[in-house]
Amino acid sequence: MTDIRTGLGYDLHRLEAGRPFVLGGIHIPSDFGPLGYSDGDALIHAICDAMLGALSLGDIGQHFPDTDPEFKGINSMILLEKTVTLIKQHGYSINNIDTTVILEKPHISPYMDAIKESLDGVIGIGVDRISVKATTNERVDATGEGKAIAVLASILLIK
Ligand code: MG
Repeated sequence: MTDIRTGLGYDLHRLEAGRPFVLGGIHIPSDFGPLGYSDGDALIHAICDAMLGALSLGDIGQHFPDTDPEFKGINSMILLEKTVTLIKQHGYSINNIDTTVILEKPHISPYMDAIKESLDGVIGIGVDRISVKATTNERVDATGEGKAIAVLASILLIK
C-alpha cells in the first residue's frame, strides 16, 4: 500500500539593510536582506520544515540549532541537501512542493525560474513539481511594511 504524507512549513526573517538577499539559493540584488543565524533563506527553511513535518521528525531548529557554530552563516542549500538526504534515508520520495513567498520588495518574479532550478538542483524532482508563488501583504503588518519576508510551504511525500 502506498504511504502518502503531507507536510507544512513556515518561516519568517526580519529584513535589514546591508544583508545579502538570498532566496532559494539565489542572490537577488537588494539594499537589504534577511537577518538570520544562517544566510536567512526563508524559502529553503520553510521547505525543510515541511519535509521534516511530513515525517514527524521535528523542526529545522532541532536539526540545525542556532547555538551550533557549524550552522553560523551557513549556506541554506547545505541544510536542504541534508534534509533531502534524511527523507530518502526514511524511504520516501518527494512528489511535489508548493510554496508562497510573502514579500513587498524586492520583486522576485524575474528570478522565479532561477530559484526553481536552484532548488531542483538539490531536490531533483523536476522544476514542474516545484512551485514558487509570490504575494504581498498589502502593506499591512510587518511583512507588508517591508520589515520581513515570510514563506509558506507544503509538500507531498510518497513511500
Ligand atoms: Mg529561518
